[in-house]
Amino acid sequence: MNTNENAYTLSDPDWLRAVEFHGHMCPGLAYGFRAAKVAMREFQVRSLDEEIVAVVENDSCAVDAIQTLVGCTFGKGNLVFRDMGKQVYTFFSRGTGKGLRIAVEFRDDETPEESGVWQRFREGDRSADTLERVNRLRESKIRKILGAREEAILKVSAPETGLPAKARIYPSVRCSRCGEKVMEPRTRLHDGAVFCIPCHEKR
Ligand SMILES: [Zn+2]
Ligand SMILES: [Zn+2]
Repeated sequence: MNTNENAYTLSDPDWLRAVEFHGHMCPGLAYGFRAAKVAMREFQVRSLDEEIVAVVENDSCAVDAIQTLVGCTFGKGNLVFRDMGKQVYTFFSRGTGKGLRIAVEFRDDETPEESGVWQRFREGDRSADTLERVNRLRESKIRKILGAREEAILKVSAPETGLPAKARIYPSVRCSRCGEKVMEPRTRLHDGAVFCIPCHEKR
């Protein structure tokens, strides 16, 4: 019996929004979705402004759910990528200073037969039979991730780091080689001339 109100199905409207943005359904997106739903609830996300800052520790499919649902995007500067290769998402509210670290961990008890299918797929087997089984396994995994009890899939704790500094705006200067504008802290100086990084590397 499932009495868990914080579990979701494939027809959840927020899930569908994330899938539409991301372009396909996948287990990775489902991880990000679970973290995003906690952030939406805890920070009462309504408007997609710069109020919430997300620090993401991977650049996988999962991050697209964070961008769609929590409104943290690279463009707005409230999505900070720290390349740790972990399914960890830390959210901060600039307004209240509140922070939340969410680690996602899904333990799937695969049968030996299921592990065998994945292994054949990884080794390059693209037969119709294997592809069909992989698709079924993938969908079942997504359902399990969406439907898991929150305590079973998420570890929520206080942040381990502080709120990242607000996105800064720098002046642009012109590269002396290509003539294109480049943000000042990204310029390289050589013999008194200013270069953009690609031009500096080509020198
Ligand atoms: Zn994906
Ligand atoms: Zn240049």
